[in-house]
Amino acid sequence: MFDDLRDLYQEIILDHGRKPRNFRRLEDADLSARGDNPLCGDRMDLWLKMTPDGRIADAAFQGRGCAISMASASLMTETVKGKSAEQAKALGARFRELAMTGACPDCGDLAEEMERLQPLAGVHEFPSRVKCATLAWHTLNAALEGNKEASSE
Ligand code: ZN
Repeated sequence: MFDDLRDLYQEIILDHGRKPRNFRRLEDADLSARGDNPLCGDRMDLWLKMTPDGRIADAAFQGRGCAISMASASLMTETVKGKSAEQAKALGARFRELAMTGACPDCGDLAEEMERLQPLAGVHEFPSRVKCATLAWHTLNAALEGNKEASSE
């Protein structure tokens, strides 16, 4: 059963890595940032369209990098739509914990969102890949805070 789940997660990462969702430029974006993970060579541009009351109406990205970085950005853009900036940042903090430790004991209130990100929890077994998985979320934070550049460093 555990192996099946592992295979499923691997399949989700490969699928999102090959065919990232929301992989396009947002021409009328309100916020944007560029993310760079020099350790692996992952780079991405992220664009956000915000609603008047500060929610993420649309999120899209373009970039190149390893399957994990692209899959993570793809899943991130899917997960943060409809969220307020604060909710999105909280989700990012939880995701970083998940990616570093493989678990997030305090994630009960965000269980539904965290479940969508769960396929990436396995990166905690590969410390050099954690930055690949968290780059999209660093870039999201930078965009939400009005910074143009985000580095995994
Ligand atoms: Zn990478």
